[in-house]
Amino acid sequence: MIDFNIAPFVGTETDYIREAVANKMICGDGPFTKRCHAWMRERFGTPKALLTTSGTSALEMAALLCDLEPGDEVILPSFTFSSTANAFVLAGAKLVFTDIRPDTMNIDEKKIEAAVTDRTRAICVVHYAGVACEMDAIMEIAQKYGLKVVEDAAQGVMSSYKGRALGTIGDFGCFSFHETKNYSMGEGGAFLTKEVSYAERAEILREKGTDRSKFLRGQVDKYTWQDYGSSYLPSDINAAYLWAQLEKADEINENRLASWNAYDAALRPLAERGLVELPTIPAECVHNAHMYWLKAADLDERTRLIAHLKACGVQATFHYIPLHSAPAGLKFGRFAGEDEFTTRESNRLLRLPMYYNLAKGDLLHVIDAIYEFYGVLR
Ligand SMILES: *Cc1c(COP(=O)(O)O)cnc(C)c1O
Repeated sequence: MIDFNIAPFVGTETDYIREAVANKMICGDGPFTKRCHAWMRERFGTPKALLTTSGTSALEMAALLCDLEPGDEVILPSFTFSSTANAFVLAGAKLVFTDIRPDTMNIDEKKIEAAVTDRTRAICVVHYAGVACEMDAIMEIAQKYGLKVVEDAAQGVMSSYKGRALGTIGDFGCFSFHETKNYSMGEGGAFLTKEVSYAERAEILREKGTDRSKFLRGQVDKYTWQDYGSSYLPSDINAAYLWAQLEKADEINENRLASWNAYDAALRPLAERGLVELPTIPAECVHNAHMYWLKAADLDERTRLIAHLKACGVQATFHYIPLHSAPAGLKFGRFAGEDEFTTRESNRLLRLPMYYNLAKGDLLHVIDAIYEFYGVLR
């Protein structure tokens, strides 16, 4: 069976975990965490990057820092993972879902403004498959109406938009280092902010509402309870695993891109014949090969294609059931405007196996199986 995902492993993880244990510093903010923070600041050009226990908790931090009041609204796509929405529900907001673009499956920047009301406080964009949303247009709307912008860049680590790293363009950025993502620490993530004024609040929020981070830097002589907060910092053991991968970030990225490009080149002829649709990468985006997706004609064809691939020993998957039609989505939100693409396109989308070190022979087997399904000779 060709797995859909295999967690990234470069080889040095176990040495670093052993080192973290030997350091006798297995709680949060130890030496490996500090290395990861410095690497992210430098690599992505952001003043603040903090490891978190998950992408979900990074989103929760972002939502809490939006200072939402009951009844406030947050605009987000319906085609996303539950965590994007949960963070804002937990912070007391009402969700306003808007439609996506069929080419990138990202929020349609042209449909956002019509969803803005006098209760709107934030826009949360999701960079689907590590391909950037149209951030210039989105930041312009945010500026016009005084809205915060949260980037769910869970899938977008190492991607950029007009040369700027995803997660550093809006007010707050959220990464995931879950084992299904490009870089992993098992469970984990990161919270980024370009606003220095929020950096201190973020530290307090992450450290149980205390200024312990300042205390550890020697900036205050005792630490006290400053504000509301939680425990969003991961163990240094997890950071050690991640550090091994960040050291090899370019190698992992290039390896994934090679697989992505091989899929894309091999499947283009099927797209040219109108049998499938393939991803579009807008000119201003550099992506990280988080995912390779294709679209079948409709739900029925997708179901048959997944079954065919399974029979050929290939694990392909689909996602997401649009949030606005899920039980919690009905309870916590509403869809603004017309659902032109969200439901229709999500029913057609299929994800192919994609992970670091996907063997070329396996990749060709996946492609052959797809050609066989469509009855086309390669
Ligand atoms: C993976 C993912 C998350 C959640 O990240 P976790 O680290 O699993 O909590 C949130 N949003 C999107 C779009 C994701 O892909």
